Amino acid sequence: MEEEKTKGQLLAENLLRKPKSIPESNPEILGEASKFCEGYKEFLSNKTEREAVAYAVPILREHGYTEFVRGKVYKPGDKFYMVNRGKNILMCTKGKRPVADGIRVSVAHLDSPRLDFKPHPLFEDADMAYFKTHYYGGIKKYQWTTVPLSIRGKVVKKDGTSVDIRIGEEEDEPSFCITDLLVHLAQNQMAKTASKVVEGEQLNVLIGSWPYQDEKVQKKVKLAIMSILNEKYGITEADFESAELCAVPAFKARDLGFDRSMVAGYGQDDSSCAYAEFMAEIDTKEPEFTTLTIFADKEETGSDGVTGMRSYFFRDFVEDLAQAEGVEVRHVLRNSICLSADVGSAYDPAFGDVYETNNCAYLNYGPILSKYDGSRGKYSTNDASAEMVGYMLDIFRENGIVWQMGELGKIDIGGGGTIASEISVHNIDTIDIGVPVLSMHAPVEVTAKVDVYMLYKAIYAVYNSPKKKDI
Ligand code: MN
Ligand code: MN
Repeated sequence: MEEEKTKGQLLAENLLRKPKSIPESNPEILGEASKFCEGYKEFLSNKTEREAVAYAVPILREHGYTEFVRGKVYKPGDKFYMVNRGKNILMCTKGKRPVADGIRVSVAHLDSPRLDFKPHPLFEDADMAYFKTHYYGGIKKYQWTTVPLSIRGKVVKKDGTSVDIRIGEEEDEPSFCITDLLVHLAQNQMAKTASKVVEGEQLNVLIGSWPYQDEKVQKKVKLAIMSILNEKYGITEADFESAELCAVPAFKARDLGFDRSMVAGYGQDDSSCAYAEFMAEIDTKEPEFTTLTIFADKEETGSDGVTGMRSYFFRDFVEDLAQAEGVEVRHVLRNSICLSADVGSAYDPAFGDVYETNNCAYLNYGPILSKYDGSRGKYSTNDASAEMVGYMLDIFRENGIVWQMGELGKIDIGGGGTIASEISVHNIDTIDIGVPVLSMHAPVEVTAKVDVYMLYKAIYAVYNSPKKKDI
């Protein structure tokens, strides 16, 4: 016979929060999540915003999306998309209600920390050829030496044509790397602080060592490499000036752990959220409110530029939607909500001292809902209102979504921002949500499959909820 609960036990049940991990509350879900993450791992093979956009467009078309036509009046259930300069996609499913009632926005970024090439990248030193890089986004520079790298990007040539480059990923392709000092001679290096152990100007990618056979020319290795590049891609050294090339880690995304419960791979900040919102967008068929799913760019360098979220491309697009229905864009924005879908930090016991354990996020506890980010006294944060958080949690509870509220780490030891502020400036109620990640911004990042999957379910629930915002 079951023992009767004490008054205190009953009170605790009624009054206290009982955080539960996904494996505790739903152990069966790993199978589904693993299936979902097969597509996710493939998505991770796109390692730049351009590649992800080029990958996503045919998938959208397969699922009935057509290119957006300005002025066209769309019917409920119609799906359409617009690409901005090959680096952003805006994807929509028209809702039953007019856009004046507000739209449901989700934004995730496709750019990840990497090593961009300088405009004059090619040089030779000590009979070896290198590409000189300027790192993109926040990295621990020492992590980027001695890992296999692949080279990606686009070169616009003198004759006006362009060529896409993607090399170093496949087994039969050459690989590249940045060298590091041997430990035997590293006494001085090891005494330096970590930010100085490897410095920006040392992040040179080794690309060749075999000289061009001609006594009459200088810099024979450089010439030999340029000759290979010319043969393969039809480019000359001057063409690097109009190129966007970068080096990224060359590993494929893989299952992590004997239990295969996690994914290890490059670029999960923020491709985990991008894939989750992408699938939620595609699977949404007849929403009450029009959805707008955005692939953003330049988040890692502050969201500037024409493809960053500070650009007007987003607002202009919403204005086009508004005008097609004869309403003002500001009225659409005021009634809208946005999920700023970006990763957060997962608690790492090896570095436990930087986390406040009551308010940080854990692997396998679901997507992190963050009321605010920012640093030094919540500086530069969107800070979602209680009403906005309440509205979200209502939708989550109604749809069996497992979530965790979390902030990045302890107060005043760092901090970071997301694009939430770039969205809320348009008078859209916005909240941050994202997958918890271990080793964020490292060449290999780690996520839990059920967290990625649950984020998909959370965004799907928001897209498909008929619940009107009353804020
Ligand atoms: Mn991010
Ligand atoms: Mn980031």
